[in-house]
Amino acid sequence: MKRIVILGAAESGAGAAVLAKKEGFDVFVSDMSKIKDRYKQMLDEHGIQWEEGQHTEELILNADEIIKSPGIPDNAPMIVKVREKNIPIISEIEFAGRYTNAKMICITGSNGKTTTTSLIYHILKSAGYNVGLAGNIGHSLALQVAEGNFDYFVIELSSFQLDNMYDFKADIAVLMNITPDHLDRYNFEFQNYVDSKMRIIQNQTADDAFVFWNDDPVVAKELKKYNIKARLCPFSEFKNDAVIGYVDDNEFVIEGPVPFNMEQEELALRGKHNLYNSLAAGITADIAGVSKEQIRKGLSGFAGVEHRLENAGRVRGVDFVNDSKATNVNACWYALESMTQPTVLILGGKDKGNDYSEIFDLVKEKCIGLVFLGVDNTKLHAAFDGFGIPIADVKSMKDCVDECFKMAKPGSCVLLSPCCASFDLFKNMEDRGEQFKECVKNL
Ligand code: ADP
Repeated sequence: MKRIVILGAAESGAGAAVLAKKEGFDVFVSDMSKIKDRYKQMLDEHGIQWEEGQHTEELILNADEIIKSPGIPDNAPMIVKVREKNIPIISEIEFAGRYTNAKMICITGSNGKTTTTSLIYHILKSAGYNVGLAGNIGHSLALQVAEGNFDYFVIELSSFQLDNMYDFKADIAVLMNITPDHLDRYNFEFQNYVDSKMRIIQNQTADDAFVFWNDDPVVAKELKKYNIKARLCPFSEFKNDAVIGYVDDNEFVIEGPVPFNMEQEELALRGKHNLYNSLAAGITADIAGVSKEQIRKGLSGFAGVEHRLENAGRVRGVDFVNDSKATNVNACWYALESMTQPTVLILGGKDKGNDYSEIFDLVKEKCIGLVFLGVDNTKLHAAFDGFGIPIADVKSMKDCVDECFKMAKPGSCVLLSPCCASFDLFKNMEDRGEQFKECVKNL
């Protein structure tokens, strides 16, 4: 019997273990950290052997194949040993893809993955498709392959997942954009990260489709290097001959035998970045055969995704917007760009080597106050002190929201779009967003 060892027992690892067991493999799961109770229970229910807090070499290095959690870096000591033994390492998505004939709609990019994935899923699901939602968004593909019987999957893919994918093929691949991120995992070489993202099109044939943002200079450069067989479906904010999705005179258009169009104002999601996300989702749904009527309904009726430009309420004429997911400067740029009111901007947290100059112009144009929420705000002061905009330093969300409320005036907006990871003061970006919303409620 072939032995499959799974390293990392969270959502993807536990799901992969269940599928591997179902497919008749000898399965072992090993996690260096503590495994969450619900995953232990899942493994126990399926009679799967596991260990936590350690990696026992004898039980791992005898594997025929290893399924690695995307969170484990390539230089982790056990991965180095696995490589020395030439044991193939794959991702949960690669593994799951072997056991389903469902159509795969895969979304990647540096920003906009979760929003676009959720929007595509929403359109297909509301149109009555038998569709599953999977991947980086937090639902295991393997578990759904093991236990469900879907005709379509909409899958969010991170670069870490793509890294260990080889034979998997996306029927529809969607690439939102590529900007520097996670470079610590890519030897500080941007090209390594770019190569990883471009794996989204590997193995595609002439029957498949590739949806991408045509205005991204990095993607444009990459496209020249590949002999792409899939049907190209580029989109842009501006109408031009090269693209099939664009905005023309406030009309949102997707070309095709029967063109699709709707008023831009009817789109549920606001902001330039969400226009790209809506274009990508509309084109993808169109390729998947969803009717124009259903696409229109889906694009206008989408409730949005938590922590992404989420409306967090209005207090005495001041609007509060939770964009806690903006953990890099590019994401914050798009959030600020979409602001139509004078804005008090909350920045700060764990800096990943940020270059704040990207948002200088927007800060000058739109911000009436800056509140720095972090353990160490030195870099933020160095970047913004000269702007002549009121600045406050805070170390808790309560103080942060209170300061913002003092700086804001009726008709203005408080935007949490911090450019940074949250780990210095919060458990994660969700915790930061929840605390923000709670403090706003308590004002
Ligand atoms: P991801 O899953 O790739 O992190 P999300 O959809 O969760 O992307 O959005 C994260 C943040 O990135 C949002 O808060 C928003 O500010 C910004 N963003 C969303 N879509 C885009 C886009 N298409 N281009 C650039 N920035 C975006």
